[in-house]
Amino acid sequence: MQRVFSGIQPSGVPTLGNYLGAIRNWVPLQEDHDCLFCVVDMHAITVWQDPKLLAQQTREMAAALLACGLDPRKCALFVQSHVRAHAQLAWIFTCVARIGWLNRMTQFKDKAGKDREAASAGLYVYPCLMAADILAYHATRVPVGEDQKQHLELANDIAQKFNHDYGVDFFPQIEPLIQGVAARVMSLRDGTRKMSKSDPSDQSRINLTDDPDTIALKIRRAKTDPLPLPEHVSGLEGRPEARNLVGILAAITDTLPENVLREHGGKGFAQFKEVLAEALIAHLSPIAAEIRRLLADPHAIDAVLHAGAERARAIADPIVARTQEIVGFLPER
Ligand code: ATP
Ligand code: MG
Repeated sequence: MQRVFSGIQPSGVPTLGNYLGAIRNWVPLQEDHDCLFCVVDMHAITVWQDPKLLAQQTREMAAALLACGLDPRKCALFVQSHVRAHAQLAWIFTCVARIGWLNRMTQFKDKAGKDREAASAGLYVYPCLMAADILAYHATRVPVGEDQKQHLELANDIAQKFNHDYGVDFFPQIEPLIQGVAARVMSLRDGTRKMSKSDPSDQSRINLTDDPDTIALKIRRAKTDPLPLPEHVSGLEGRPEARNLVGILAAITDTLPENVLREHGGKGFAQFKEVLAEALIAHLSPIAAEIRRLLADPHAIDAVLHAGAERARAIADPIVARTQEIVGFLPER
């Protein structure tokens, strides 16, 4: 059975982008893969996180993942900082990766903004920790959104260089699973920027916990252009906001953008947005209700996470011990 790993940062409430680009695609993989899903709190602190909020958001993220259909009987769901292997392997990988490789990472450039010198060193070496997350389990399939493709390529470069430098065939190559018409959901305020849970503007995104009125309002206020919807996908060229809204409706109703345009082409956005809001509310309301239900019992969520971490450690610890031996670290015992 192939092993799957994926993670999500507790840097806010999960968004529609996280859901369509990642989480939704994790659920079916549980049936025929050995799956590990991780709330990556160590990644989250690469930018400032209020400690009280971080703890709360970590639990909320776990609740959201369970509400979306992750089943702790079928996968290991855990918190990154509970499994030391991630940090241990990350250090070794930070020594394998080259500065030149990290300099090319677009996520660092986006997140660091103009004052790069003031960004945390953690934000810069983020991809080394991400490579460790995956390779500590020898996972070979990683379901993520489009934005993580470059980091996965870097993880493969790290694995290859490690194997080459130490003359071993130890770390496998990773296959990114980037799926569906919504692998890159864009901001509701700017169709050229990715929707992100850490975007300062709450209006830029749909959160999985938004109530129906909030969803309707955010969609109504979403940026569009003055033209009606085109009849064909070719007409979405150069219209990023229109492309995004059509893509979201296609993804949420399990169809393709061309089918959405066959039905709604020629309509104005006011009319289309009503259809879109209704579809989103129908799909997301049960998830929001389930998140609320799960959060009423935080101890039950913690118990799931502790059991998940135990399963994760049982896989990762021997892999890290062997890595340390390959590198030449003296055995601990
Ligand atoms: P942050 O803004 O803190 O980076 P984020 O919304 O980008 O948060 P992450 O925790 O970084 O979320 O990523 C979790 C998963 O969601 C990853 O697989 C990522 O590729 C995917 N993802 C994030 N944003 C989008 C998006 N807009 N469209 C599709 N997938 C996305
Ligand atoms: Mg992100």
